[in-house]
Amino acid sequence: MSNKVNRAQQWRLFISNFIGFTIIFVLLGIIVFVLFRNAMLTSTDQALRVERSSRLDGGPLAKKTVVQGKQPGSRVPASKAIHPFMTTTLIFDDQGEIANRDQLGSRYETLRNITLDKSQVGQLHTIQVGGKYNFRTLLVKVPKHNSDRLVAGKYLLLMENIDPQKAAMSNFTRVLLITMGIFWLLSILMSIWMSRLTMRPILKSWGRQTEFVGNAAHELRTPLTIIQNKLELLLTKPNDKIIDQAENIAIANSESQRLQKLTQDLLALARSDSNTLQTNFESTPVASFLQQTVEPYTEIAASQGKNLVLAPVADFHATLDQNLVHQLLNILIDNALKYSPKDSTITLSAKVVGRKWQLIVADQGIGVNETERKRIFDRFYRVDSSRSRQTGGNGLGLSIAHWIVNLHHGNIAVKANDPQGSRFITTLPLNPPVGLGGHREKQA
Ligand code: ADP
Repeated sequence: MSNKVNRAQQWRLFISNFIGFTIIFVLLGIIVFVLFRNAMLTSTDQALRVERSSRLDGGPLAKKTVVQGKQPGSRVPASKAIHPFMTTTLIFDDQGEIANRDQLGSRYETLRNITLDKSQVGQLHTIQVGGKYNFRTLLVKVPKHNSDRLVAGKYLLLMENIDPQKAAMSNFTRVLLITMGIFWLLSILMSIWMSRLTMRPILKSWGRQTEFVGNAAHELRTPLTIIQNKLELLLTKPNDKIIDQAENIAIANSESQRLQKLTQDLLALARSDSNTLQTNFESTPVASFLQQTVEPYTEIAASQGKNLVLAPVADFHATLDQNLVHQLLNILIDNALKYSPKDSTITLSAKVVGRKWQLIVADQGIGVNETERKRIFDRFYRVDSSRSRQTGGNGLGLSIAHWIVNLHHGNIAVKANDPQGSRFITTLPLNPPVGLGGHREKQA
């Protein structure tokens, strides 16, 4: 089911990426095409305008024959010099008859179908003659007083052949289409890659979420089943006194406490996942803060026949969220007590190291072997689950501790204590940057 959802999501991402790429390529192609075509016609149009002004001024160009082949110094390549229709001028009289028929010679047959449209004076057009020659044209009305009497009072259709440009344009269009096609195909691969890349963290957190929910359900089921069994047992013996069933009631009670702790931890982790926790960072005198926080645990430790000692702490301030660091200490001290034998000592110390400070909880308990040191910060991970069950652990404490440390932009690591036990070393910046979430690195 989850795979189906993920595949659909990945498919959607692929499609949206692909559409995005296609739109970009098409727009790019259109822009390049339009710019290229305009650039090509601009130079031709410019040449026609120059021709017009020289005609109207009766300047040197006007003295030239009205039918020309290649212009000297023209930008048309030499190979095209013999092209019969590079630059041609048709002279129309007022009735629309071609007046320079003689000078046109054999070209007249091809050009004779061109008609005069007086409304187009001053306009640039693209026309095709003889089914294959393409011209850019500009119609000019020559004033009657023009010095060139041959054209005075007539209409001139200045024609500039654009076949080379057309050919270049169609070549360019072909290259553009092929290039766009190749890039379009590449965009398919790119879209697949990008959709996979985007999906990777989603799939990862999806996997983690599924595992988390599965583990949570499993953890919740056990105490619930025990409580249910005990209650059903009590129902079968309605005449018993409480004292007779004290043991069963005590078990049900401890399981319900366990359930409460588990739901609290799950809630904390759910908050950590959604980043919705409101933090309250404040400058804190570490020595007195630790003193106050650790005191109640000293009594608990003593009640279990263990020593909890807070080593002297120098006078310094650190910016921290007191509630969260309290919770962190609770987890670390609780673990130290859970995993150490009677008569052992748990030592808490704190010191400044450069621009950071370290909080160390050292115990003389069972310790954590090297291979387990990274994994104990994972959710629901317990080195020995049967032992943890007896001690009431659910494998969530250290992942909550890790999250709290991350929120403070610090890190937490576990090392071996000498001669035995473990040392949980938490390193936090004295002044963490304000804002939620720290780096997520885990250190062994
Ligand atoms: P739990 O609730 O099971 O203690 P934690 O996340 O707090 O869950 O710890 C994960 C595991 O790490 C524990 O099950 C235990 O095996 C190991 N561990 C934690 N603290 C200590 C410690 N002080 N000494 C030895 N092992 C520890």
